[in-house]
Amino acid sequence: MVNKIILINSPVLQFKKRRKFSILEEISFFVNLMVIILPLFITGNIISQADKYYAARINMVETQIIDRGISDTKTIESLKKVPRHLFVPAEYEKDAYGDYPLPIGYGQTISQPYIVAYMTEVVEPSRKMKVLEIGTGSGYQAAVLAEIVDTVYTIEIVKELAKESDNRFKMLGYKNITGKAGDGYNGWIEHAPFDIIIVTAAIDIIPEPLIDQLAENGRLVIPVGSPSSGQELKLLRKRNGKIDITTLLPVRFVPFKRL
Ligand code: SAH
Repeated sequence: MVNKIILINSPVLQFKKRRKFSILEEISFFVNLMVIILPLFITGNIISQADKYYAARINMVETQIIDRGISDTKTIESLKKVPRHLFVPAEYEKDAYGDYPLPIGYGQTISQPYIVAYMTEVVEPSRKMKVLEIGTGSGYQAAVLAEIVDTVYTIEIVKELAKESDNRFKMLGYKNITGKAGDGYNGWIEHAPFDIIIVTAAIDIIPEPLIDQLAENGRLVIPVGSPSSGQELKLLRKRNGKIDITTLLPVRFVPFKRL
């Protein structure tokens, strides 16, 4: 008898008796909970994916970039942020922070991190600017610039690479990059003039349309030469409509193709 009274007063039984929610309400509560939790789980997953190589990335920036004399804070911060391992084919993911270029398919390469940093620093990017890149490739250089400037336009001649990089920009949330497939020789007249033009494939003669599409005080960086003769990275600056050219350093880029 005594036992029975105690049981009836137990909190479990009281809860069962006083069911506050209908089954439908409980299902709807569960669904709402999932709506809140699932996105957190998915974004958490993307963030942890992106951060798997955080230490390797910081080490790359310190030893390959800062120690070699790159000092522009915006460039340094951008390289610390952009997850380079998500711009290379899966089989090279572990090599993504190494001191060398890597294959990205279709006979093309993603440049060595130092070269990306060097080309970024030398064109002096800052917030309000509009950039044109010729040779999207993996999209890494475009993403590094997009962390610093307002708008990046980028052109890639290999259709498949243009598509892959576009997907990458979407996945990583780069809304300020607009890419297209095509021959970048003629620039992108609809969006000209550009404060910065960056060419990441080597060509014998600097394309005239790119010089024309450079804004006043604009900077154009381009590897000039052929794979056989050797190439030099050149910096052009437009001042009062005139072009100053500086030769920076010897480089090795894939050849600029024509359609
Ligand atoms: N900036 C790239 C490096 C890519 S290598 C990155 O960060 O990964 C150079 C790229 O230039 C190649 O993908 C090549 O297909 C492309 N390319 C060569 N000639 C081109 C042209 N005429 N127009 C546009 N892209 C070109």
